[in-house]
Amino acid sequence: MKRILYCSKDDLFTLKDTCPSCGAATTTTQPPKYSLDDKYADYRRKAKEPLRKEAGLL
Ligand SMILES: [Zn+2]
Repeated sequence: MKRILYCSKDDLFTLKDTCPSCGAATTTTQPPKYSLDDKYADYRRKAKEPLRKEAGLL
């Protein structure tokens, strides 16, 4: 089944693998599958680190 894809740059939904507006690769709208292992926790924390420093939480 073809899933709806999303371009975060243009805030645009599409079925194509690349954005029709800016040509960038689109990302899926589905959240990652729930897992007790949480394989992406490290990546998620690293991605949010600058925002937390900005907010003075770190
Ligand atoms: Zn785009």
